[in-house]
Amino acid sequence: MKEKRHQIVALVGRPNVGKSSLFNRFTKSNKAIIDPTPGVTRDRHYETVDWNGQKFILVDTGGLEMDKLSKEQLDEDPEKKISQLIQEQSWQAVREADIIVFVLDGKEGLLIDDYEIADLLRKSEKTIYYLVNKIDSEAQEMDRLSPFYELGIEQLHPVSAAHGYGINSFIDEIVRNCIENAEEEEEKLPEKTMRIACIGRPNVGKSSLTNKLLGEDRMVVSHLPGTTRDSVDTLFEKNGSNYLLIDTAGIRRKGKVRDKVEKFSVMRALSSIERCDIALILIDANEGITEQDTKVIGYCVERGRACLVILNKWDLLENDKKRQKWLLGEVERATKFIGYSPTLKISALTGLGIKNIYSTLHKVFEQFSLKFSTGKINRVLQSAVEAHPPSLYKGHRIKFYYSTQVATKPPTFIIFVNYPKGVHFSYYRFLVNHFRAELNLDLTILRLFLRERQRKKYG
Ligand code: GDP
Repeated sequence: MKEKRHQIVALVGRPNVGKSSLFNRFTKSNKAIIDPTPGVTRDRHYETVDWNGQKFILVDTGGLEMDKLSKEQLDEDPEKKISQLIQEQSWQAVREADIIVFVLDGKEGLLIDDYEIADLLRKSEKTIYYLVNKIDSEAQEMDRLSPFYELGIEQLHPVSAAHGYGINSFIDEIVRNCIENAEEEEEKLPEKTMRIACIGRPNVGKSSLTNKLLGEDRMVVSHLPGTTRDSVDTLFEKNGSNYLLIDTAGIRRKGKVRDKVEKFSVMRALSSIERCDIALILIDANEGITEQDTKVIGYCVERGRACLVILNKWDLLENDKKRQKWLLGEVERATKFIGYSPTLKISALTGLGIKNIYSTLHKVFEQFSLKFSTGKINRVLQSAVEAHPPSLYKGHRIKFYYSTQVATKPPTFIIFVNYPKGVHFSYYRFLVNHFRAELNLDLTILRLFLRERQRKKYG
């Protein structure tokens, strides 16, 4: 019943070729989001694109903080060639993405950097689309497209981010590819495997925690290839339960990366969240919660993943009651929109609280995977409406007809109603809270959708 993971499509290319205009064009149809999620900002560079019901995640690599990284590097080393920097940025995105869209500039033509990027991309052995932007009409296509065949590519896609030329058919093709990829990705995991991802900034303690979670008393460990060539997931059994720890290689590899250069990788976080059931959001107790952390949590909410907020390095605060209080207050404020997610204090160094992680994971996962009978759900709906009837909508009475659970992981419900738009957000929130309380879903995310049921027509 769990939906398939969404494919990640990355826009890669030189600066100013139009990546962010394309990003906006692709995601434009998306703005009418039905279910407002608190904590989710819209000023970002990755977005779920819904194309006639088929979804994928689009990432504008030009907008990721890798850009800032390159600026810092440029200041440090002005001689460094821009193409080298682009390579570093693109490579990060290429590694995490399922599908690459290489954006070229039809107006400016082919530059030496484009050849370099093309070479790099070919080495990735991923599906690559070559998009030639700034082509506004068929006439321009005749004129501007041909030089790009020098890249040795058979199929080029001429488009105009500004005018929309060629965009629809291109997205159709991306979606076809996403569907094919997803079909090949059937996971073969033991039943009831809990998929866990450790997410957090560099040095927060992800590798230390990974090692502690794997511990000595695990039963079986096997390493399965992840979705990208260099990522490895670890499947293990502990006290009779199966766990898949996502991207363990990615976490451990860190040791080899130059520490100073390593930045938080949104791409890496996205692709891990995409594949997990429960995200362990690691926060450095010594540093507090950052905007990056709340953005990641917002993304978990959007994708319906359960979360545990993990305050690591608690050992450093052990004798500082004042700081403990400050931190807990900060974290509580910043994570209010996932009030149901447990917050745990741990030390990956001393082992404090590790056992607690396991017991909490189980409680959360149990709720996350629950199924309810339609009868039970409808009794809950009925009791909500009886306790607190909705107000009128443009003089009409709002009628909730019935509700049903359509998915699990997380528990997802639909309520059929005559005027979904007439249900005020505060009433919607009341319904969510009521479902949460009555179904004892106090630790997990749940989803509730309002759908219109046709009103009976007379005469
Ligand atoms: P990663 O980059 O998130 O994988 O972080 P690491 O696991 O490599 O940890 C970064 C640094 O923090 C290392 O020096 C660890 O020894 C240290 N560290 C990790 N967890 C703890 C903890 O709970 N307490 C303390 N005091 N240090 C920790």
